Amino acid sequence: MTVTTGAPQAPATEAPGALNPLDDARSQLREATTILGYDDGVYNVLATPRREVTVGIPLRRDNGDIELLIGHRVQHNVSRGPAKGGLRYSPDVTLDEVRALAMWMTWKCALLDVPYGGAKGGVRIDPRQYSTAELERVTRRYTSEISPLIGPAHDIPAPDVGTDENTMAWLMDTYSVQKGHTVLGVTTGKPVSLGGSLGRATATSRGVVHVALAAMRSRDITIDGSTAAVQGFGKVGSHAARFLFDEGVRVVAVSDQYGAVANATGLDVPALEDHVAATGSVVGFPGGVEISGADLLESDVDLLVPAAVEGVITGANAHKIRAKVVVEGANGPTTPEADLVLGDAGRLVVPDILANAGGVIVSYFEWVQANQAYWWRADEVESRLAERMLTAWDEVAAHAAKLNLPLRTAATCLAVERVAQAAQLRGLYP
Ligand code: NAD
Repeated sequence: MTVTTGAPQAPATEAPGALNPLDDARSQLREATTILGYDDGVYNVLATPRREVTVGIPLRRDNGDIELLIGHRVQHNVSRGPAKGGLRYSPDVTLDEVRALAMWMTWKCALLDVPYGGAKGGVRIDPRQYSTAELERVTRRYTSEISPLIGPAHDIPAPDVGTDENTMAWLMDTYSVQKGHTVLGVTTGKPVSLGGSLGRATATSRGVVHVALAAMRSRDITIDGSTAAVQGFGKVGSHAARFLFDEGVRVVAVSDQYGAVANATGLDVPALEDHVAATGSVVGFPGGVEISGADLLESDVDLLVPAAVEGVITGANAHKIRAKVVVEGANGPTTPEADLVLGDAGRLVVPDILANAGGVIVSYFEWVQANQAYWWRADEVESRLAERMLTAWDEVAAHAAKLNLPLRTAATCLAVERVAQAAQLRGLYP
């Protein structure tokens, strides 16, 4: 037997000079607290996670080797309810990234008025290099290590990059075994046959498309025949591309981590889905030509949907972005520096905490259904999702217009104010 470390492990923070999403998240918070007139005490409380844990996850590989993986769970804030946030499996996971993602979850839940605080989890692992049985062992051990922190009333994980409904089924089962009875409400994004909600798997993308259409209409763009580029063809990007296609939008370029494809007259998205199902990537799709990932971001389109990872639109490339509207399917794709450039160029950026909130809305519906053991019809889920997304869009757009702020600043101010108000009403203990 050999003992190895499967991925670069400690230190769990970014290298100096690297893009750090926590810096971005804190800079957005600083701007909001300044506009709201809050003092440094409030800023410091909101800039710092309430609770965080780092765990070592020993994994027995299929060949008998032992590997040590590192995982994190961060609860940023619980003033408005139990912590809520995804679980990410990626070789790029760092503690600062998880902290940033947890903070954005707090703002997202407050903005959409779902009764949660914010959390996030991550394991530093490249899931493509591990078998299903190995990923199950990682998930069960990680769950076991963080189980004192999670639960339907404490912290409710969900899928994110590199995890899916199977991961949530293992997580729910491991937690339930420890409790001695089935606890469906400990996670969301479960398989529908195991207490998941109808509509959850596509909810983030549905929400992205609801606000994308509203944002394009606000800029007098005719939807039918308009053009879009989508970065990332995973759980969020693939369904977003499909729903845009169904609305008559020409999806002229899509990408994944392996490459990008384009077709100026519009990609045949259903055929592309079949290609990805068969090959695992958009690369090689016969109905398009190969382009670079940079070309995709810089496409001359009405709508750009970054739906992959954070920090892809930066000070270095923001001036090359030609999309009229950018709708953030991913969390944190645009840095604060890039926001300034895009704003000056008249681009409309619909921020992540609004644009991709459809996932947490239907996660909330799933949790309500699981806790009540009473299941909703698909049309009930879809109509309630649409209503919440469009109400939030109207609210943020009106607030931005009233205060003459970019949408992100307006959305962050609304969310931070709600969280600060809840904290103030509850008071400090002791
Ligand atoms: P996923 O793992 O299902 O898919 C990620 C996709 O991005 C894959 O197609 C991958 O190949 C691609 N990708 C990775 N790096 C890339 C790069 N540099 N360029 C182009 N493509 C790249 O993950 P997901 O669940 O779709 O999440 C995507 C983003 O959406 C993340 O930022 C996540 O936090 C956010 N998000 C997800 C949900 C959800 O419900 N899944 C909800 C809200 C926000």
